[in-house]
Amino acid sequence: MKVVIVGGVAGGASAAARIRRLDESAEIIVFEKTGYISYANCGLPYYIGDVITDSGDLTLQTPESFWTRFRILVKVNHEVTNIDVTQKTVKVKNLLTGTEWEETYDKLLLSPGAKPVRPNLPGIDSEKIFSLRTVEDTFRIHDYLEKTKAQSAVVVGGGYIGIEVAENLKEKGLNVTIVQRPNQLMNTLDYDMASFVHSKLRAKGISLRLNSNVTSFRQDGECIVTLLEDNSEIAADMVLLAIGVAPENSLAKQAGLKLGVKGSIVVNDRMETSVQDIYAVGDAIQVKHFVTEEDTVIALAGPANKQGRIAADNICGGDSHYQGSMGSSIIKIFDMTVAGTGLTEKVAKSMGIDCESVVLSPASHAGYYPGAKVMTMKVVFEKDTWKLLGAQIMGTEGVDKRLDVLATAMHAGMKANMLKDLDLAYAPPFSSAKDPVNMAGFMIENIRNGFVKQYHWDEIAGLPRDGSVTLLDTRTAYEYKSGHIDGYINIPVDDLRERINEIDDSKPVYVICQSGLRSYIACRILTQNGFDCYNFSGGYRFYASVIKEKQMSECTYPCGMEKLKII
Ligand code: FAD
Repeated sequence: MKVVIVGGVAGGASAAARIRRLDESAEIIVFEKTGYISYANCGLPYYIGDVITDSGDLTLQTPESFWTRFRILVKVNHEVTNIDVTQKTVKVKNLLTGTEWEETYDKLLLSPGAKPVRPNLPGIDSEKIFSLRTVEDTFRIHDYLEKTKAQSAVVVGGGYIGIEVAENLKEKGLNVTIVQRPNQLMNTLDYDMASFVHSKLRAKGISLRLNSNVTSFRQDGECIVTLLEDNSEIAADMVLLAIGVAPENSLAKQAGLKLGVKGSIVVNDRMETSVQDIYAVGDAIQVKHFVTEEDTVIALAGPANKQGRIAADNICGGDSHYQGSMGSSIIKIFDMTVAGTGLTEKVAKSMGIDCESVVLSPASHAGYYPGAKVMTMKVVFEKDTWKLLGAQIMGTEGVDKRLDVLATAMHAGMKANMLKDLDLAYAPPFSSAKDPVNMAGFMIENIRNGFVKQYHWDEIAGLPRDGSVTLLDTRTAYEYKSGHIDGYINIPVDDLRERINEIDDSKPVYVICQSGLRSYIACRILTQNGFDCYNFSGGYRFYASVIKEKQMSECTYPCGMEKLKII
């Protein structure tokens, strides 16, 4: 069997190695159009920031090491330019010599990845505008920074790559501005959770221009000027474009393979394309979303590697199936870790899913053991079925393991309230006897049992201030004095039983505290005394962070919030 693989990085390289492990006699040839194989895309921003200083560390394998270990022929600087599906040949071009030839295959695997989106804007072709996808791109940016001693940069796009590069440029001493069209960075987060990312970046001195659309670029002396729709201009020494990627589908299109969402290559769960003996994996393909079962594209390294393995199994006569992607992802933003999986609340609602969420601020490990750090966790679930839809977590410690537990629970089809039952490892330096994931489960179980009703940050502005409801802050008098929301009266939770007569039991009571715990206790006291009571999801800490950030970014979302006052 002769297998030809297009693309020698995440999906292609892992498929090649797996094929060899399954079939010692297969002839395997990998064509890679850049000069490197099996490189660490995910490490590229850190080379720009000099966190990774040895360029050799960016490549996990070389053509030589692949040959030595696997007897796989890897041809770098070779581009596959054409597929003849009837003859079962590909046309290959040696990009260094220009030589072209046809290579036959029995099985063909496409793992060509995705290409950075480059909109057709005036001035986009400036040599001061970069994108980051390959090792060569990385060296280009690194060399440019060294040569020009650049002092400032505009990063267009506030997704993972944009933020990682922004952080690395900032750490290198540049003044950095991120320009982002939506009103928030990171579309894998809800607006409320993204506000923590905004605050962190601002605190680290990165300027954010949210709700801002780039219209063109202009070279001005040594500067590149980014022009925005509101007619403002940002001059900088360089621009990094990171506004997203599109499936690399040129070969698939030419070969007549069926294409799907955003031009991605349609495959079945065995990674087979619409043409026999051609497989495809990675950023270039359409996948089923694990939660919604809808067709989508998800460009991440984990899925690409797993799909490569599955394609290899099937190429070698096996029967492996891909179960879908849910977009589990994680990023370091300075000292903060931000992770998410599944659907955000915003996306779930836009799909018409009747969902609810809990927001909690648990400690990374037992509070009495030194060094515990607060994290912010949001778990989204479907109202009637209690199906787990997604989770978002941020903090400085313990975020990754909670996110992975939640992703595992989602994959296993666990109901949201079942999170309370998970038997998770505990000792004070690592967790609490009630792990944050268990805590989320307890909160969901309380909602399910009708013990607690919730309200959310975007409802506060709309709550009546005419006396028809009671707005109750149950923190201490000191905390209340240090900052509270307009219209809320203060009765600390520990005084509530004695002062319960001060609250009108004929009116709904909306309760808040710092993190959601004391207000929950207050709600239980009030509910058992016959009050109609609502607990604020996330607490004042969460609320203040979202609102402060909202005011900073001067956005108008959602309507009416601008009337809100924090005293
Ligand atoms: P790739 O790994 O991109 O490989 C495709 C290769 O195919 C490319 O090298 C390309 O040159 C080659 N190719 C394309 N067409 C041809 C052709 N016609 N002939 C020959 N060769 C061809 N994901 C994460 O999960 N976590 C992260 O932290 C993360 N960080 C990232 C940071 C950066 C800067 C980038 C760019 C990506 C990051 N990703 C991350 C995404 C991840 O790298 C991709 O999802 C993954 O590499 C996709 O694998 P793939 O095999 O589909 O494509």
